[in-house]
Amino acid sequence: MIGSYNMKVLYCKKCIISNLKPNNDLDDAGICTACKNQITKKTIINSTQKTILRSSFKNILKKNSIKNSKYDVVVAVSGGKDSIYQIVQLKKFTSKILAVCVDFGLRTEVGEHNLQLIQNELNVDLIKFSLKKNIIKKLALYSLEKHGDPDLFNHPLIYNIPPIIAKNFGINIVVYGEDPRIEYSNTKLKNIDTLINQKFDKNYFENFVSHSRINLLSILRKLSIPLEERAYFTYQKKLKSLKILFLGNFFKWDSINNYKIAKKIGFKENKTSEGTYRKFVNVDEDWNRVHHYLKMLKFGYGRCSDHAAEDIRKGYLTRNDAIKLVKKYDTQPLSKYYKKRICEYLDISEKKLNYILEKFRNKKIWIKINQKWVLKYPLK
Ligand SMILES: [Zn+2]
Repeated sequence: MIGSYNMKVLYCKKCIISNLKPNNDLDDAGICTACKNQITKKTIINSTQKTILRSSFKNILKKNSIKNSKYDVVVAVSGGKDSIYQIVQLKKFTSKILAVCVDFGLRTEVGEHNLQLIQNELNVDLIKFSLKKNIIKKLALYSLEKHGDPDLFNHPLIYNIPPIIAKNFGINIVVYGEDPRIEYSNTKLKNIDTLINQKFDKNYFENFVSHSRINLLSILRKLSIPLEERAYFTYQKKLKSLKILFLGNFFKWDSINNYKIAKKIGFKENKTSEGTYRKFVNVDEDWNRVHHYLKMLKFGYGRCSDHAAEDIRKGYLTRNDAIKLVKKYDTQPLSKYYKKRICEYLDISEKKLNYILEKFRNKKIWIKINQKWVLKYPLK
């Protein structure tokens, strides 16, 4: 329990994630759940069960595909490297793929280029779904101001819209990339069944798709979002029978590997990076940078920490090198470019944006020294 911040800030001894990160506890030995899951996953994937997982995937596709239907699966995409990798992997099993991209505004040119690769190079049909701008604007501004996260409503859309589209097309399977619960947070990976069996049931919706700690429906009502749009954020019983497959649970899931494969198809990365050392991430839209900047203010760790932790777990970085990167990138301020993008989209002044951002700086972990904010308990 870190809510009181009375205890010491601790960092995982394997990666560099701290106990301030929500939903990723450290055990008595000082190791986080995400690190332990990677070890369990390696054991599963490297054993004979690798073949079992592959054939399970094949069987699920076979069992759930409908004869003579145009599509076997919906795959959720954004325009990042993982989207391309997902489709390359899926095409080994079926060519009847419908890609669905949820557009929450602030899309980038690079992201649009990468998204088009799906239609132009991978020869897959694509639906781009976007709510009316005035609704996104309302939701993003409210969640930024009140919860310090402009992406609050984007997450449920990403996990709700592809199933809704699947149901409408008579498709039984929805495919995502990695399972964030297993790759980055507290869901303990115990056995192979945890990887394979996921349905779009109420439990999955309430604990993963929706925010368990925030009542989204009451916010939607408060903001007078029309009933038909509210349905995009709420649980719908008719989706219950859908099968949800996280590719990362069946096959190798490694950001650098995914990037190399996507690059061969024509994937473009960012020219520069901000808040992290990777240029091939956060390429599709600009909310993401603000989301992670606010995370830094609230919990004392940013996007670089996420990437460095992942690279340690996959064996690409030593803990010491990761610490150097975190010190260099994690606390980088939000640049003019992002501020301008957000202010223009939300129609607010930079002064107002700065005020909102600073409101979320957690004074229990930040201290001002010589006019500069520094972390009280930095990673060492
Ligand atoms: Zn760890």
